[in-house]
Amino acid sequence: MNEQTAIKAQIATAPTHVDVLIVGAGISGIGAAYHLGDQRPGTSYLILETQEKFGGTWRTHTYPGVRSDSDLYTFGYRFKPWTGKPIDTAGEILDYMQEVIDENGIGPNIRYQHKILTANWSNEVNLWTLEAVRTDTGEHLLFTANFLWMCQGYYNHDQGYTPEWDGMADFKGEIIHP
Ligand SMILES: Cc1cc2nc3c(=O)[nH]c(=O)nc-3n(C[C@H](O)[C@H](O)[C@H](O)COP(=O)(O)OP(=O)(O)OC[C@H]3O[C@@H](n4cnc5c(N)ncnc54)[C@H](O)[C@@H]3O)c2cc1C
Repeated sequence: MNEQTAIKAQIATAPTHVDVLIVGAGISGIGAAYHLGDQRPGTSYLILETQEKFGGTWRTHTYPGVRSDSDLYTFGYRFKPWTGKPIDTAGEILDYMQEVIDENGIGPNIRYQHKILTANWSNEVNLWTLEAVRTDTGEHLLFTANFLWMCQGYYNHDQGYTPEWDGMADFKGEIIHP
């Protein structure tokens, strides 16, 4: 069995359908889920997230002292004003996000370790079809949705970008990456 056939066999089960599929459980994805619950109660949704937990930026970047660089009163959600220090740590931001998830029952709608591989729109059935792989089991799954909400941010969370500079190979110091 070649790789394509093996993947098709794995995803032979019926797709999971939701009204809205949100990509990513960072600050954007959690905010999207809140607003759906608040403004469109009854709309079914799932958040698919590659990583083992929510947080995105604030979980990926773990160098010592990692913190916001602008004030969190404007970074925080308007529905849950930030009450901590104006500039604060990734840990505090993750705690804040945990509260938003808990206070609004968002947790059961998040599927962790689900990396989306493809997303295709069909004009015939007016649906998105997404293929995801479970990063823990390797299982391939299909999802369909009427609306796809991209909250995937702008980093490659798997690997940082390292630019090339002339003379880099001759540099005698230590090159670090956040
Ligand atoms: C050190 C640091 C400090 C910062 N400080 C500030 C600040 O003070 N103020 C400010 O406004 N901004 C700041 N930023 C920018 C910050 O990244 C954004 O403000 C914000 O957190 C981005 O959130 P997001 O949810 O859009 O994206 P992300 O945090 O990148 O989250 C996206 C999520 O989507 C998931 N995802 C992506 N692709 C897939 C896929 N194919 N399948 C499933 N899941 C996927 C990722 O795993 C991730 O969890 C800072 C960034 C850094 C690194």
